[in-house]
Amino acid sequence: MKAIIVGGGYTGIMMCEPLRNMGLEVTVLEKTERILGTADVEITQILENEIKNKGVKLVKGVSVERFVGHEGSVTEVVTDKGRFDTDLVLIAIGTRPNVELAKRAGINVGVNGAIKVDKYMRTNISGVYAAGDCAEMLQFITKKNACNCLGIGTNRQGRIAGENAAGMRNEFKGVVNTTIVDVFGLKVARTGLSAIDAECNGYDYFASATIGKSICRAHPDGIPITMSCTVDRTTGRFLGAGILGQGGVKQRIDTLATCIYAKMTIKDVNNLELACMPPFAEGPDPILVAADEALRKWRH
Ligand SMILES: Cc1cc2nc3c(=O)[nH]c(=O)nc-3n(C[C@H](O)[C@H](O)[C@H](O)COP(=O)(O)OP(=O)(O)OC[C@H]3O[C@@H](n4cnc5c(N)ncnc54)[C@H](O)[C@@H]3O)c2cc1C
Repeated sequence: MKAIIVGGGYTGIMMCEPLRNMGLEVTVLEKTERILGTADVEITQILENEIKNKGVKLVKGVSVERFVGHEGSVTEVVTDKGRFDTDLVLIAIGTRPNVELAKRAGINVGVNGAIKVDKYMRTNISGVYAAGDCAEMLQFITKKNACNCLGIGTNRQGRIAGENAAGMRNEFKGVVNTTIVDVFGLKVARTGLSAIDAECNGYDYFASATIGKSICRAHPDGIPITMSCTVDRTTGRFLGAGILGQGGVKQRIDTLATCIYAKMTIKDVNNLELACMPPFAEGPDPILVAADEALRKWRH
């Protein structure tokens, strides 16, 4: 049996493993030349190699045009670069807010058609609040609004909207878009701005990449952790990071997300005191290895 996944974003890439485990021949068709959106290439390159090693075919720069079927079942996916036989299609090409009800009520919509809200999650209609995938999402670093549906932000928005509707006055401070996925045992995480995000938002930035170990090299289970870092060249502000490894990824991306909220510079990150003991982390921790390399780059 063959399966085609349309879209090499987070959902599409995450679905490779379960479909392969079911014994299907899996092909991912991705419109751009990248997987996982704007994630750093040092990270996605390793992931691409891993999913190919696991037998997944990845075709980038291809746009799906239509599906062909026979007796109620899909048989082919037609693209601008040829046709692909298949028995199953999974479409994972993103979401758009459904705001018809809000529009009919006279509520203003903004970025990507999401409901416009202020920092208290208020819409333009008195007494009506909006939160979640249907609402604009303030970005902590750029201070721009976006519409990027992630439970970590939508959940907080919902809480703040509820509190304010009940008479409190709490502000939504914005998201740094911390995400983590597990694909064939590789944990891939990111927070803040990638190099591409920094470029698109007009930052004078630089990026660096390092490989550290999540546990002592001498330990038989020592495993490499790849990290990418984005830093504002003018101020040294730490803007974002990507991490890939088989373990020790989540706590590190959470630490770095906290650094972004604290508006730390790369020098501050390099001065963090992170627990170090052979079974858990080689000294220095991969975060400090990454910060050290970025600092070195900044000074040159
Ligand atoms: C496959 C997938 C994986 C994801 N994984 C992650 C993850 O790992 N981490 C993360 O942070 N986020 C993740 N997300 C995003 C996260 O799920 C969403 O951001 C979050 O669920 C948004 O919450 P919400 O309440 O706005 O919308 P929803 O959770 O979609 O809830 C909206 C509810 O409103 C109901 N509804 C719609 N219209 C009406 C109506 N007219 N009247 C009454 N009810 C209505 C719907 O039926 C639904 O139950 C994932 C999303 C998807 C699709």
